[in-house]
Amino acid sequence: MRKQLFDNHGRVLNYVRLAVTDRCNLRCFYCMPEEGIQYINKTELMTYEEITRAMTLLAQMGIEKVRITGGEPFIRKDMMKLLASIRSIEGIRTINITTNGTVLEPYILELKKLGIRSVNLSLDTLDRDRFFAITRRDVFDKVMQSFDLLLKHGFEVKINAVVMAGKNEEDIIPLADLARTHPVGVRFIEEMPFNGEGAHYEKLKWNHKNILQKVKDQYPNLQKLPDPPSSTSMNYKAPSHKGTIGIIAAYSRTFCGTCNRIRITPKGLLKTCLYDNGVFNIKTIMREGATDEQLRATFLDAFRNRAKDGFEAEQGRFGNSISESMATIGG
Ligand code: SAM
Ligand code: SF4
Repeated sequence: MRKQLFDNHGRVLNYVRLAVTDRCNLRCFYCMPEEGIQYINKTELMTYEEITRAMTLLAQMGIEKVRITGGEPFIRKDMMKLLASIRSIEGIRTINITTNGTVLEPYILELKKLGIRSVNLSLDTLDRDRFFAITRRDVFDKVMQSFDLLLKHGFEVKINAVVMAGKNEEDIIPLADLARTHPVGVRFIEEMPFNGEGAHYEKLKWNHKNILQKVKDQYPNLQKLPDPPSSTSMNYKAPSHKGTIGIIAAYSRTFCGTCNRIRITPKGLLKTCLYDNGVFNIKTIMREGATDEQLRATFLDAFRNRAKDGFEAEQGRFGNSISESMATIGG
């Protein structure tokens, strides 16, 4: 029987989002300023050995699913070595990846060989000019090539699209239409203030309700699908469509009651909620010589003191308002 890990609110914890770097080749408007962010020094990154040790302990405690994210994960040197190392950890059943798709192509076959089945591709528009305006880089074609190749090789593909007032409102329907023509999950995400500068808006225009209304106006026969346990997206499908449409209330935080995930940042900070500002630094205590037993106890202590939801976690940020880049967290 596998061990199950629970937090102080009785929620199962079985999923880690692992951000392997804060570096990125894009400058998405919603994630970082045009001039970029101050990247952490490479010596401050968790090494692959440290990541593997942390993941092994967490797998022994009940974690079974990992999402590799960043920054752009494929920017970090020897990423495939890390993936192979995580693949070999007993108890880790699923590895998924979130990527901007710009430098993914050379790795697609290797990912398949490693048994990685599902890739989330960030794509906020199907218009080349708006892609450039949002990401500040002219690499739309690279992303579309990755999209086509992933589908060709049988990956489960989800599109992550952040919906922003004045930036890509006109893309909601063309993106949703990808679910009509392709077997993909198109997920619309509420914009959060994790952009390196602070909130872009006083009141969020494109909240989950408004996004859903817009999509329903286009597809009146859209049907609600049952959501998988701990799903962050509310999922829908129109009868004739090949794929599905999801809406993620990331700012409204409607899903905290079943949240099964923890986060590890590139520099080793453990976050038990996206909205907290870190509970303890795994890398620091490892480098100070912590034994596995001590590390396990520190993890357990963090899991027993988890905020009940993202609002409580945000209140506990020691007076700091949110302004860090999502590239330092991983989404
Ligand atoms: N670079 C990779 C990518 O873009 O897919 C992985 C890292 S990125 C930080 C992970 C996810 O976070 C992406 O899907 C991105 O759209 C989302 N994201 C980044 N900043 C966001 C924000 N301020 N609000 C909502 N989602 C955000
Ligand atoms: Fe880079 Fe991803 Fe952030 Fe865009 S969302 S700047 S691709 S880390």
